[in-house]
Amino acid sequence: MTVNVDVQTFPLFINGQWEQGASQETFDVFNPATGELAARVTKGNAADVDRAVEAARNAFDNTEWKHMKPKERSKVLYAISYAIAEHAQELVYLESISSGGTVRRISSNDILQMVDLFQTLAKFTLEYPFSETLPSPPFPGPAHNFIWREPIGVCAAITPWNMPMLIAVWKIAPALAMGNTIVIKPASYTPLSTLKLAEIISKVVPPGVINVVTGPGAEVGEALVSHPKVDKVAFTGSTEVGRNVMQLAAGTIKNVTLELGGKSPNIILEDADLSLALPGSLFGVFLHSGQLCESGTRLFVPDYLHDVIVDGLVKLAAKIKPGNPLDPATDVGPVISKRQKETILSYIEAGKQEGATLVCGGKELKVPGCEEGHFIEPTIFTNVTNDMKIAKEEIFGPVLSVIRYKTVEEAVQMANDSIYGLAAGVWTRDVNKAYEVARKLQAGVVWINDWHMLRNDAPFGGYKQSGIGREMGMHSLDAYTQVKHVHTSMVSEIQKRSWYGLLFSDTNE
Ligand code: NDP
Repeated sequence: MTVNVDVQTFPLFINGQWEQGASQETFDVFNPATGELAARVTKGNAADVDRAVEAARNAFDNTEWKHMKPKERSKVLYAISYAIAEHAQELVYLESISSGGTVRRISSNDILQMVDLFQTLAKFTLEYPFSETLPSPPFPGPAHNFIWREPIGVCAAITPWNMPMLIAVWKIAPALAMGNTIVIKPASYTPLSTLKLAEIISKVVPPGVINVVTGPGAEVGEALVSHPKVDKVAFTGSTEVGRNVMQLAAGTIKNVTLELGGKSPNIILEDADLSLALPGSLFGVFLHSGQLCESGTRLFVPDYLHDVIVDGLVKLAAKIKPGNPLDPATDVGPVISKRQKETILSYIEAGKQEGATLVCGGKELKVPGCEEGHFIEPTIFTNVTNDMKIAKEEIFGPVLSVIRYKTVEEAVQMANDSIYGLAAGVWTRDVNKAYEVARKLQAGVVWINDWHMLRNDAPFGGYKQSGIGREMGMHSLDAYTQVKHVHTSMVSEIQKRSWYGLLFSDTNE
């Protein structure tokens, strides 16, 4: 795929236009599949964050943006969805050359989901209860009461490198749908598509409504999260950084949503249809080389089916074709960076050291034509116990841990024995058993006979240390609003306001 776009140097995007950074410095973005320089991007700093927040603040405080009627706002969201579709090819390209995601996935999934999320929220905006009237109770007296839902203000979004564009849209779409303004700090590995996205969206919304400041998390991210004029923070990334973000946001009691790591359990029950469960389980863990927070990285299998399941998984894993993600025939691309590759390889080493059996993969992979890329073979460990490092920690790479169980109760107990609770899954032909297990699993989403099935009209987020709050669906609109109760008294004579007697013993004077 070739696209006529200059990806050489990207400035910041502030107040509806491209702007130079205060420091004039840049950093390099590399293509993880080839190691080639993909673009240079502005290294923003705290002064740039100040400018972006001022622009967002002004757009929120001093324009009609937040007062737009739902019908008009719905039209704006539809217009954004069409603009994204129009620029799909360029966005797919920028996303692929920086994140290593396959063009097949990004064009047939991510872009369509982005378009659909704006359209879904465009519909929800028309139905959203911006103002509700409460019934008037007989006591303490006639009054009119409303609940109003209002935008929060300036939102800060900090996004990761795995699916940067889609995850940014999970924050941008509900923020804009509810009348907020936003400043986004994308991951330094993958800022290109978010910058382009902001430019596209800015053609439809007033200046300052959407802004992007690129630069190091420790500088730009922290300045944004602790900025006194930012009202809300939405973060996706590691649990460790999420904890830090929450602490910094606490300084000015910001509203916070966090979408963090996972170590999601996938349970195959004895009666499962293995012709579905096996490819489904590999789809659950190896999509995007395992760099998805909701990946099913712990596979629980019945003891007596262990060998047949493992045999099937190994045969299927051999069919997954690694390659240059720009080639539509490629099934999986690289991992994001040399550093991430080394982290993953060190986990694989730890698995071997702890006594797990490597049955497939486990090594760095050299892909012809992509010799400088960061590829790792789809890797499967058996004889893993739930207390091993590879079963406890988020690896964020193509590594599956197969864990045996004797009873379903034991499988559920091990599944829940994790600090995380993002996703979980169960494979069975028995719907009652499926719901029984789903009830017991501590996770924000449970897939029955499937994986990765996120929906734009359904909430996504984690239990336990996988996060706070939900993205997508109606729940995401709640996350970008605050609630006001408005009371209007209809009692005009003070004598009839008996409750004033709580303070004034005599109201006749
Ligand atoms: P991080 O959590 O470090 O990065 C996520 C985002 O936070 C990036 O935009 C990053 O910026 C920013 N950031 C980093 N430090 C700070 C800070 N002090 N204050 C504010 N923002 C900050 O993820 P990594 O990229 O380091 O990946 C590490 C691990 O995190 C992965 O191996 C995986 O386990 C997990 N992860 C989980 C994801 C998920 O979807 N839940 C997504 C990505 C990673 P910058 O890029 O400039 O550092």
